[in-house]
Amino acid sequence: MTPLIDPFQRPITYLRVSVTDRCDFRCTYCMAEQMQFLPKKDLLTLEELDRLASAFIGLGVRKLRVTGGEPLVRRNILSFFHAMSRHLESGALSEITLTTNGSQLSRFADDLAAAGVRRINLSLDTLDAQKFSAITRWGKLDPVLEGIRAASRAGLKVKINTVALKGFNESELFALVAFCGDQGHDLTFIEVMPMGDMGEEVRLDQFWPLTDVEARLGGRFTLLPSAERTGGPARYVRLAETGQKIGFITPLTHNFCESCNRVRVTCTGELFTCLGQEDRADLRAPLRGDPTDATLTAAIRAAIDRKPKGHDFDYSRAHVKGQISRHMSHTGG
Ligand code: SAM
Ligand code: SF4
Repeated sequence: MTPLIDPFQRPITYLRVSVTDRCDFRCTYCMAEQMQFLPKKDLLTLEELDRLASAFIGLGVRKLRVTGGEPLVRRNILSFFHAMSRHLESGALSEITLTTNGSQLSRFADDLAAAGVRRINLSLDTLDAQKFSAITRWGKLDPVLEGIRAASRAGLKVKINTVALKGFNESELFALVAFCGDQGHDLTFIEVMPMGDMGEEVRLDQFWPLTDVEARLGGRFTLLPSAERTGGPARYVRLAETGQKIGFITPLTHNFCESCNRVRVTCTGELFTCLGQEDRADLRAPLRGDPTDATLTAAIRAAIDRKPKGHDFDYSRAHVKGQISRHMSHTGG
């Protein structure tokens, strides 16, 4: 099989699959409080998600990230992880990872580890229980902290993802760094992106540039630049004093698109070849219409041949340019 290479000579080796659009939280920057979720019939079954992911793996994808919505609220999701572990055993996949809000993690940590998951990303924007409930609208902090401990006990490496939000978690910068340092978790800050339909004043209001986060960290720690790249938007530094790795995902202030190796599939089988563009390809019809994978594979190749060069997000103008109307929970962050 010829591997997937896009028009800009980028090999596509990383697939992010959103297994559900549903979530038990309503983070203010991600979802509206009243969300209209997709009808069940539009969702791919777990067997269809298996066929889809396996087709990409057959075309050279080496790394699979399971995301959502909240992946751990999808019924029977463990069977999907167990099914995917055959690709780890065969050596076709090098890694299966998960992005989660952690609310259900204490129940799932051992089984995820048994299915071959070694690393997870967990979203945590604050260590204050009240602020946690405010930002997630429906969430509680304690079960998430318990989930993190359960994951560590199960041997999973946990990376904490924190969305940098002006006026919200600015005051907790060092507390979050200390929490991660004490517990041995890497920490990555994410710049808030103009997704969903929350009105542009809110977005501009929440935007806390990571250049400022980094400058504040630099005021207290010695930041050692790290050459490490993941092919994605994250850039890393090490804190000389603690040895901690801190990442910065700055889609809006840095251009990372030239090394992009990833594509995303939604829970309805839409393929997005760029998080910041509207271009999409329907993979559900080829998946359901042809029991062999021939039509599906052809549709994947045709979409990769159209992968855009990069995104157009830009906060530097008076309005939010390049705003994308779909929610992050739809494409899977
Ligand atoms: N529910 C899981 C979670 O929260 O980790 C997985 C899905 S969530 C959509 C994936 C990531 O996207 C989370 O780290 C979340 O903080 C991030 N995210 C959601 N909306 C965002 C936005 N508007 N800007 C930046 N990051 C966002
Ligand atoms: Fe749910 Fe994750 Fe979106 Fe928060 S960021 S609402 S946890 S999907």
